Amino acid sequence: MGNELPVLADASVCNRCAACAAVCPVKAIQMMPDDQGFTYPKVDEGHCLSCGKCVRTCPVLTPPSPQSVQEAWGAVTNRKEELMRSSSGGIFQLLASKVLTCGGVVFGAKFDSDFNVVLDCCEEISELSKFQGSKYVLCSENGAYLKALEYLKAGREVLFSGTPCQLAALKNVLGNTAYSGKLLTVGCVCHGVPSPKVWQKYLHERMEVSGSDKIIGINCRDKCLSWYDYSMSILFSEGKKYTCIYKHDPFLRGFLQHLYLNPACFHCRFKNPHWTQDITLADFWKVKKFLPQLFDEKGGVSLVLIHSTAGKQLMESIVDEMKCFEVPVEKTMASNPASMNSAKNAPYRKAFWQDYSKYPLLKLLHWYNYPNWWKSLINLFPNWRHIHINNIIVPSNHPQENH
Ligand SMILES: Cc1cc2nc3c(=O)[nH]c(=O)nc-3n(C[C@H](O)[C@H](O)[C@H](O)COP(=O)(O)OP(=O)(O)OC[C@H]3O[C@@H](n4cnc5c(N)ncnc54)[C@H](O)[C@@H]3O)c2cc1C
Ligand code: SF4
Ligand code: SF4
Ligand code: SF4
Repeated sequence: MGNELPVLADASVCNRCAACAAVCPVKAIQMMPDDQGFTYPKVDEGHCLSCGKCVRTCPVLTPPSPQSVQEAWGAVTNRKEELMRSSSGGIFQLLASKVLTCGGVVFGAKFDSDFNVVLDCCEEISELSKFQGSKYVLCSENGAYLKALEYLKAGREVLFSGTPCQLAALKNVLGNTAYSGKLLTVGCVCHGVPSPKVWQKYLHERMEVSGSDKIIGINCRDKCLSWYDYSMSILFSEGKKYTCIYKHDPFLRGFLQHLYLNPACFHCRFKNPHWTQDITLADFWKVKKFLPQLFDEKGGVSLVLIHSTAGKQLMESIVDEMKCFEVPVEKTMASNPASMNSAKNAPYRKAFWQDYSKYPLLKLLHWYNYPNWWKSLINLFPNWRHIHINNIIVPSNHPQENH
């Protein structure tokens, strides 16, 4: 490469996986948050050796070989308590428990003490609950790829779970064919990941509205109403609790309207047929149509896509602990659009970010979350939108939102 600096994935397609930073031999890459809070690699020109390892490892620039879907199953764990802690049918918990019971190590996404989402690992079943449940925020890599490599080198079995782009990054860090037989990867059908900056501002304002100074627990997929009508739940130190169904919770609503997804998620390169993992887990939203006998409105059902022999063996090793049936691959994937199609860029995303630092987030989301035809005039009459947002009063509590 001579003395040229590496040209990494452009910010519009960078999935922020941090594989480039992990492999740099002189630690010349730091992941720095951009103005929307998504971390992006910054190369230290003074230290870079121009070796090109970061470019060769980037899963966007050098995608690893894909694994096609061989089988699809509908499945629900028999463990009722674990099912209620999980986002869909609790299959991740069964797979992870099996690997831990055989002496392996499990990697997954957890909340840290400030409720940032980070990758971490565990060796005990009692620690697994921290990985359960979808956390709708960009997950930071936190040194996980190299830690997994150390365990694999030591001969340990590793189950690594995360978004499909993180799993493609891991494959590149390890080398495409290395450690097959020891490494099992479990990904999700992925809608996209929201900005950590918006998430932290949301939590801060939630604390203010509740008059609390500490959050002690969060569940982005609380099944207290049902799996279909999931809720955001936040538990505060004083015993107060905020619970709100997804269609009214401002953060989840903004997430589902794509106001603050990572820009790379609008043209994701890690969906079918580009998945690299052994197993993909999803919500089986259309289970009533394909497997009415498995339908459980309260607890939920997983759609499991199996990509490899290792993935199939792991699924077969847990069949006594779940109810499961095979379903047609193409038809069930077609019924889950996020398995193939990227989220569409929100028409108001640009305006939302222009207004982001000018207003309290709850006010802003109250305005942007309910778009209607007159809001399409905002580009013609920008001042008009400021008058509206300024006049929004965020209620200190929404009685209809607490269950
Ligand atoms: C960000 C995100 C978006 C998703 N979007 C869809 C979708 O559009 N359609 C669909 O059908 N399914 C989607 N899923 C998958 C689905 O919601 C369940 O996660 C999946 O079915 C597994 O459920 P489970 O009950 O077996 O296990 P759970 O206990 O619910 O799964 C936990 C798993 O999710 C991982 N995880 C949680 N949060 C993150 C995160 N921020 N980054 C990386 N990994 C994370 C953990 O590491 C663990 O492997 C999404 C999941 C995530 C994390
Ligand atoms: S080119 Fe080599 S030294 Fe320079 S940032 Fe990339 S990996 Fe590091
Ligand atoms: S390796 Fe990951 S973080 Fe680095 S440039 Fe590529 S996509 Fe972005
Ligand atoms: S949508 Fe694609 S790029 Fe975005 S987090 Fe999911 S797998 Fe990664």
